[in-house]
Amino acid sequence: MFGQSYFQLISPLIFLVFSLGFALLWHYARYIRALRLFSLSYFLGACAMMGDFLRNAMDPVVAIYIINPLYVATSVTFCAGLFTFYRGGVPWRALAAQSAVILLALSWFKFVQEDIVIRTMVMNAGAAVMLGYAAIELRRDMHRLVDRILQAFVLIYSFHMILRTLVVLWYEHQTLTEANYADSVAALSLYFALSIAALALAGILFVMFGMEIVSNLTRTSWTDPLTGALNRRGLDARVAALPTEMPGTAAHAVVLADIDRFKKINDQYGHEAGDRVITQFARILTCAAREGDFIVRWGGEEFMVVMPGADVAMARLFAETVRAGFEAQRHDGITDVAVTASFGVAAWPASRPIADSAHLADRALYRAKRGGRNRVCVQGESDLHSAAVA
Ligand code: GH3
Ligand code: MG
Ligand code: MG
Repeated sequence: MFGQSYFQLISPLIFLVFSLGFALLWHYARYIRALRLFSLSYFLGACAMMGDFLRNAMDPVVAIYIINPLYVATSVTFCAGLFTFYRGGVPWRALAAQSAVILLALSWFKFVQEDIVIRTMVMNAGAAVMLGYAAIELRRDMHRLVDRILQAFVLIYSFHMILRTLVVLWYEHQTLTEANYADSVAALSLYFALSIAALALAGILFVMFGMEIVSNLTRTSWTDPLTGALNRRGLDARVAALPTEMPGTAAHAVVLADIDRFKKINDQYGHEAGDRVITQFARILTCAAREGDFIVRWGGEEFMVVMPGADVAMARLFAETVRAGFEAQRHDGITDVAVTASFGVAAWPASRPIADSAHLADRALYRAKRGGRNRVCVQGESDLHSAAVA
């Protein structure tokens, strides 16, 4: 049609398909905001390539100011997608400054000093520098194997953009003109490289987002929505992983915690007030826990805390801290009922099932309740001794 081969339409089509793919994924996983930006980036890439396909039908100045900004916007939105995914925020000023430099340089080498070779170099190297900047800037946020692969690929691609453009322009700098640019090696090799990179990058991104969705589903199916504590399924998974996470650790501790006379709070102040008390209790447990401890919603207002590698004395100290903190906590609207909790502590020898220790902690908790509540009892200790703790 315009001296172009329809073969060149394959690249924008690939971009469009990926743009739709990212948009579709975003529809189902809206919490991954970066998906919108990648969808937009691939869409802009498709538009830029379509513009290139139609370049011969356009006025050269119009072509420069439509196609090049589209390529720049493709790079900006791609980098913004990376920053959003890994850091949650985008350095828009830095990306805008880089875009402005590219567009100013393009204008300079069009109107002040007409040079299509330098313009081609500016466009290719500009996009490469922007992508390389994102990959280097995010180096501390990209930890997993898939992140490293993505980072390496972006860096290699950026380096190749500069190198390929240098080689191609060295080869055809004397023959390259506005009129033959669309069929030049510079343009055709750019389409080819872009298509391969778009395919590979989208492949890596889809794997990465797939992993993100799976890990989010796992997290959701392991946690209790009211308090964010683990549910029983989460407990089973964490317990199963403990021998690998802490090999050689012979003993752990468990604490069972139950809010005192909770039915009264529900009856007197309503279920929602009760929910707020449960959430507050979970928050205090989480704040007092060490890193690596896990908090499980064991029943309605009953929690289990598993303390890997801790002994009974350490667990008792933890329970006592939570008990005192919860007793001191004020709850909106609850005035004439003391809100407290009781605790049962037991050792968990790594060689025994956790259910045995849960049973022992439950018996200690029962003693704490019988002994007057708002106290900590330890497995195997007498009521007298444990009551003295409170
Ligand atoms: P005790 O001191 O012996 O533990 O007395 P208690 O009133 O706390 O006794 P119990 O454990 O039998 O009562 C727990 C109550 O918690 C019963 C149930 O209605 C309520 N409950 C269970 N889950 C929830 C929940 O998610 N939200 C609210 N608001 N209440 C719940
Ligand atoms: Mg209770
Ligand atoms: Mg209970």
